[in-house]
Amino acid sequence: MALPAGIETQRGKMVIRNIGLLLSGALEAPILDADTVVAEAGLITAVGREKDCDTGAATTVIDAQGCALSPGLIDSHVHPVFGDWTPRQNQFGWIESTLNGGVTTMISAGEVHLPGRARDVVGVKALAITAQRAYSLARPGWVKIHAGAPVLEKGMVESDFAELAAAGVTLLGEVGLGTVKAGYEAKEMVGWARKYGIQSTIHTGGPSVPGSGFIDADTVLEADADIIGHINGGHTALPLKQIRCLCEGCGRGIEIVHNGNELAGLSALRYAKELGQMHRVILGTDGPAGSGVQPLGILRMIALLSSLGETPAEVLFCCATGNTARMRKLDCGLIEVGRKADFALMDRAQHSAGADLLESVQKGDLPGIGMVIIDGIVRCGRSRNTPPAERVPVVV
Ligand SMILES: [Zn+2]
Repeated sequence: MALPAGIETQRGKMVIRNIGLLLSGALEAPILDADTVVAEAGLITAVGREKDCDTGAATTVIDAQGCALSPGLIDSHVHPVFGDWTPRQNQFGWIESTLNGGVTTMISAGEVHLPGRARDVVGVKALAITAQRAYSLARPGWVKIHAGAPVLEKGMVESDFAELAAAGVTLLGEVGLGTVKAGYEAKEMVGWARKYGIQSTIHTGGPSVPGSGFIDADTVLEADADIIGHINGGHTALPLKQIRCLCEGCGRGIEIVHNGNELAGLSALRYAKELGQMHRVILGTDGPAGSGVQPLGILRMIALLSSLGETPAEVLFCCATGNTARMRKLDCGLIEVGRKADFALMDRAQHSAGADLLESVQKGDLPGIGMVIIDGIVRCGRSRNTPPAERVPVVV
């Protein structure tokens, strides 16, 4: 049986050479002293100087032309529904457009925008399993979408979580978007989810759209979900002192999103830095939402937090790749042997005031994406969405 088009993997060997800047995705060493990456069958097999790597018998050779290579960006917080359509803004093609923003993996925080989304327990489970199946078998724009994230509703019992896990569900949708809003109720269900290997995220702050709820810091801390979802609100943020309490009061993921409050996002970044806990900071868009879809949302967060947050750009690239991969136990997001060959190649945008990629981002400019690779296969060349890059990689 032929594989669905979305899940093919490179069977041959890919060599990417002449990389000008290798961003590792790993906070402990964000920049690698290397210019070459080799991948076989869609997995990284070597990283180093070209002379030290076995580059023979390649089926695909890419000359990076001195561009930077980063792990493919990960959007930690999206709301997909079916395929590449979002009913939220009645828009098609938002995921494929986001590929052009360097994103290769997305994490669903709940398929909550489905018109007529069921609130009964059987309906909740059925939708989650359907979404998990659909997105694992077909990838719009080739982007990897981890979906099937049920929203907690009153009446769910421990066996429901066991059943969901056995069916392949690995995520909860944002806690608080359904009828379960009290800390004690959420805590019990988050605990059941964790017991069966299902990761949890909680909505933080004011209601996002009419019908969703308000979740304050005390509720977030009591529920103890794995990720403090949009700590900077979606869009309405908690008072900054409550955001500080969340950063200090637990060790959970600090997720900062594009569709949130920028001041609160910058403040959360500062608190994490002051606590020496940058490894907890991960980035998302929270799109599609009332604010629309953001094909360049992760790049915009990197540039915003680096420039106004006075943080080196290479550190923000880790927040958008390796931090998320480690927290969410993904097989991508880091440039190291054995990881998936998911890459974004980029360079300083033309006419940026910054002298190189990192300086341009630190000055608030977006990079120009020149190529995106998923599973060792080139999925887009020069981005149709970013400002044009100074240099663009070429397939030799
Ligand atoms: Zn939310």
